[in-house]
Amino acid sequence: MSIDLAKIRSRMPSYNPNSTLDDRILWLPSSNGIYSVTSAMESLRTPHPFVSWYKIVWFPQNIPRMGFILWLAIKGRLSTSDRVQHYDPQVVTTCVLCNSQAETHAHIFFECLYSNAIWT
Ligand SMILES: [Zn+2]
Repeated sequence: MSIDLAKIRSRMPSYNPNSTLDDRILWLPSSNGIYSVTSAMESLRTPHPFVSWYKIVWFPQNIPRMGFILWLAIKGRLSTSDRVQHYDPQVVTTCVLCNSQAETHAHIFFECLYSNAIWT
């Protein structure tokens, strides 16, 4: 045994390998030791509690792209011009639908006369 291995061994007093058994690879994030994409994703993501409105966005017959856009809208993360202006000061912030007010989430979904006319 080399000096380095002896040092390692001295730091692991409870380690007593069984030389009659084959080594095997364990995926520690999984409860059964077997790797899966699900267990890898679960080990990477930060868990958050369920939000009460998740069934409005995610339901069995939803169209994933539409659900994702709705989720962004609810979280206020759509690329409206007021948000884009933070990293591109040259962008025009006026609403492209009515050309009267700044394009914000609140304006597009609740205040804009043009989008209101479409909804009604
Ligand atoms: Zn508008």
